[in-house]
Amino acid sequence: MFSSSVAMPWFGLDIGGSLAKLAYFEPTDNTEAEEQEVETLKNIRKYLKNNRSYGDTGHRDVHLQMNNVLIGGRRGSLHFIRFPTSEMALFIELAKSKGMATLASTVCATGGGAYKFERQFYKELHMRLHKFDELDSLIRGIEFMEANNQTECYYLENPKSETTEKKCYDFSDPYPFMVVNIGSGVSILKVTAPGQFTRVSGTSLGGGTFLGLCCLLTGCTSFEEALELASQGDSTKVDKLVKDIYGGGYEKFNLDGNLVAASFGQMISTDRRAKVRREDLARATLVTITNNIASIARMCALNEKISRVLFLGNFLRSNMISQKLLSYGMEYWSKGALKALFLEHEGYFGCVGCLLELIT
Ligand code: ADP
Repeated sequence: MFSSSVAMPWFGLDIGGSLAKLAYFEPTDNTEAEEQEVETLKNIRKYLKNNRSYGDTGHRDVHLQMNNVLIGGRRGSLHFIRFPTSEMALFIELAKSKGMATLASTVCATGGGAYKFERQFYKELHMRLHKFDELDSLIRGIEFMEANNQTECYYLENPKSETTEKKCYDFSDPYPFMVVNIGSGVSILKVTAPGQFTRVSGTSLGGGTFLGLCCLLTGCTSFEEALELASQGDSTKVDKLVKDIYGGGYEKFNLDGNLVAASFGQMISTDRRAKVRREDLARATLVTITNNIASIARMCALNEKISRVLFLGNFLRSNMISQKLLSYGMEYWSKGALKALFLEHEGYFGCVGCLLELIT
């Protein structure tokens, strides 16, 4: 069992299928003895704090930094860093060059990569990975962040209009709630009490599918580019709508003419394929994946009789199009019975939960 006497630096690492996420706790209540900390520790702190990017692909999400947080009896700041899992070898190299190998330390790690890269961490950095289950860590991280950040949870008001507004949601009495974690794939959990949850469903059509298909269809090379293309696109050039089939709505079942009847259904036409733009294909891919997730989430929530659904995961990072679709889809199809909620720290809950496992 660890306690807050665990040697610094304190990290939590979540190595996922697409992105590795790192939570770093920087104490701000150092004693004089600690101020004399070993040079390596100082350098690591300086390096992490003084930069916003690390190598070509690592990023610190400065806007998400949390100050004045109490963890394991210590006060300090939480920093959030991400880099592609495919660059793990470079990350290890970087950590080595900063002297991490000289600090005999244990890092708590979660996600599939905690298993996949365990030997490499030990070999290169003399670092033991203390492994924790990713869903346990995720739930622990959500509960901690929600309790420590008053503005963590929000919903979208008027998700269909131009004037959509982000509104704070009071999540202080949360149970039961559902979590839809949209990472490379999707996991759906039902949370009934602190630390108590079951995985009720999932789908392999997630953020990894969106990005994979988008790269294939448009030749884009990054998530940011895929979203930029999608923001300029029109999915109705790609999808077959109810009105394309009926000439209007399907009145008997109250289906509006603008609803999608067949995702990508227009692409069977040679003419349409010749005219379609990359932007339209990116938008249609985003809409298809998002609506499918909304539909599965809705069925799970109704089945489990839960009205609040928390959507998170890095698929939602800077992705207002999907957040709006999820908000509207949940509300519209459930006739207002279900509410889509979001969290500011989107994809960082697993690594925070993992850090807490080390410290407390
Ligand atoms: P995982 O733990 O499976 O890596 P994440 O919650 O980190 O899951 O989400 C990964 C998904 O986030 C990707 O599939 C992609 O849709 C999206 N994403 C957001 N930002 C990026 C990025 N910079 N690089 C790659 N994918 C990104």
